[in-house]
Parts: sequence; C-alpha cells; structure tokens
Amino acid sequence: MEQPRILVVEDEQAIADTILYALRTDGMLAAHCTLGSDALASLRAAPADLVVLDVGLPDLNGFEVCRTLRTFCDAPVIFLTARHEEIDRIVGLEIGADDYVVKPFSPRELAARVRAILRRARGGSATAARDDEIAGFTHDKDGARLAYHGHWLALTRYEYLLLAWLVAHPGRIYSRAQLMDGVWAGALDTSDRTVDTHIKTLRAKLREVAPEGAGRIRTHRGMGYSLEP
Ligand code: CA
Repeated sequence: MEQPRILVVEDEQAIADTILYALRTDGMLAAHCTLGSDALASLRAAPADLVVLDVGLPDLNGFEVCRTLRTFCDAPVIFLTARHEEIDRIVGLEIGADDYVVKPFSPRELAARVRAILRRARGGSATAARDDEIAGFTHDKDGARLAYHGHWLALTRYEYLLLAWLVAHPGRIYSRAQLMDGVWAGALDTSDRTVDTHIKTLRAKLREVAPEGAGRIRTHRGMGYSLEP
C-alpha cells in the first residue's frame, strides 16, 4: 500500500517535531507547515490523505483553515487544541473535523488515531471525494470543477472556490466579510470589491450556460449573497 501523506500544521516547532517523528516512525510521509495560509497553499498544490491542524496558529486560526480547506479538499482533519473550551466549537460547529486531541498529548496516541481514521476513510466512502448534486449544480471535488445543469463552468480559482462555498450551503446568506474570510483566507491583494467583482463574473458565466443562471446568486441588500436553493 502507498504510504499515507499527512500534513501537520503546527507553529510550535518542538510539538511539530514529536508529531513528525511519531508519524514517520509509523511509516507515514509527514510534511509540516507553521502557517494556515501555507497549509492551504500546500493542499491546493498537492492533496494530503489527512491533515493534523493546530487551532492556535499565528496567522489564521485552525477553524478558518478547516472551513476554507473543506471547499476544495475532503481529507480528514484532526484538530490539536490547547484548551478544553475549544472542543465545544470543534464538535458543535459544522467545520468538518474528524477528531481532536487536547494538548499535551502522546504523539504515539496521535499516530494511532491517524491510522484509525485513515482505515475508516479507506474502508468506506464517508470521506472520499465525490460528486455532489445540489440545486442544479454538480460539484466534482476531485477535479475541482462545477457544472450547472450538466455544463462544466470555466472558472478561475477564486470563482470556483466562491461558487463551491455558496453551493455547499444553498439558501444561507453570507456577508462579504464571511466570504472574504472563507474563500480568500490568507490571500494577498484583496479589497472590499473583490467579492462583488467575482460575483459579477460568476453570474455572467452562469448566464452563458442557462439564461436564468445569473439569478441563482441572490444579492441581499446590506447583508450579502446566497445561492437560491
Ligand atoms: Ca499553536
């Protein structure tokens, strides 16, 4: 069997070193990032089989990183948290975590949990990438592309991430700030106009595929945007 690839996102070098050592000793390929933005860039460039994600990172927090990576990546996530209070957020919010470990923890125990989750992921299709069909949209997560009524859309990277975000939660209204945090997390050169500009080009591309397509992205004055279910 191929060696599983694990991305460890942890800013404390000593903790990262013990995790990397435990995973590598266990026969896994472990890579390391100290910043959330680097982790997202790394996962966009090359997928991992599992992500070990510290909640307290210097740039983005682990929750933001997880929400963003869920728009393009189905790898299981294990959170590392320093505080018991954070567990409520991990368990309560729909951020797609698969497990969590509270610091201080045994690196060998963490490696065992990584193994268990990988076994589960390989055994079933629960965490495997799949096509989602939502309200006329098809989301091919493996191929990072979206179709509207069977027509694949030619989207830029951020158009894709933005539409994938809206399609994942039809009917839910997102403010510009929430979309900036979720879709453009860690990106440079963004402004207030960034979301509006991308919504405009997305509507134009949807209209090309189907005349009513542009209306599927609704503007809520003073509140934000949603995808019509
Ligand atoms: Ca930390």
